[in-house]
Amino acid sequence: MRVKTKVLAIANQKGGVGKTTTAINLSASLSLASKKVLLIDLDPQGNATTGSGINKDSANPSVYQVLLGDSSIDTATMRSQEGGFDVVPANRHLAGGEIELVEIEDRELRLKKALCEVSTNYDYVIIDCPPALSLLTINGFTAANAVMITMQCEYYALEGLRDLVETIKRIRSSFNKKLQIEGLLRTMYDPRNSLTQQVSDDLEEHFGDKVYRTVIPRNIRLAEAPSFGLPAVSFDASSRGALAYLDLAREVMGHNS
Ligand code: ATP
Ligand code: MG
Repeated sequence: MRVKTKVLAIANQKGGVGKTTTAINLSASLSLASKKVLLIDLDPQGNATTGSGINKDSANPSVYQVLLGDSSIDTATMRSQEGGFDVVPANRHLAGGEIELVEIEDRELRLKKALCEVSTNYDYVIIDCPPALSLLTINGFTAANAVMITMQCEYYALEGLRDLVETIKRIRSSFNKKLQIEGLLRTMYDPRNSLTQQVSDDLEEHFGDKVYRTVIPRNIRLAEAPSFGLPAVSFDASSRGALAYLDLAREVMGHNS
């Protein structure tokens, strides 16, 4: 049995801010550091599944059956061969599943309960949340020890953070007292953009050392890798994007040592 499993939900209700890219590449980078990792795809888009080299349409059972109690998490778990980590896949069935979830008992606790069976097999469980503060994301927050917020440094970014932080506070006072904000990750970072720099400075001022020192640059290799079903750290290990995620993994492991 492991001393302590870190369960990390990667979230932001804003779409397209690098959640899934981070979930895949952080999972692969931690695996390269010999950590045992489970990636849970909680998004009906199934991008974390596809980007890990798994055919989402043939994934059955998937996280949908796990949440509804129709499958154990163990049975639904697949392997990302190239990434070196395990995956609980998702696909479009999960969109309907969210509506079915509303009707059932302990609807916010389904993932947490399922995870109890297996989490001690892993050093890290990484949860890729959908772009909404929905029941799926709440299941992610209830199951997690901590939340990693990914964000692009643009004008409305800070405004969206307020709602996210409020939701985390609500979950802390209801389902998960110990939920922490693990950190804020700046993604798709372009230092030549002066607005980026300004938002980034504001972020550091508001959140202090909660902002990861590692910054993920805008890098085409990160965007190309998923179409090959590969994490960028496998697809092109020397690319700037891959190197940044390897740094992030070191920073995350540093927080937990
Ligand atoms: P959604 O909210 O839809 O789930 P997301 O927050 O998970 O989106 P991603 O899917 O990771 O965001 O990224 C959105 C798009 O931007 C994708 O096409 C991805 O390949 C690309 N992308 C992510 N990070 C980077 C980066 N650092 N540099 C360049 N492209 C990136
Ligand atoms: Mg995503």
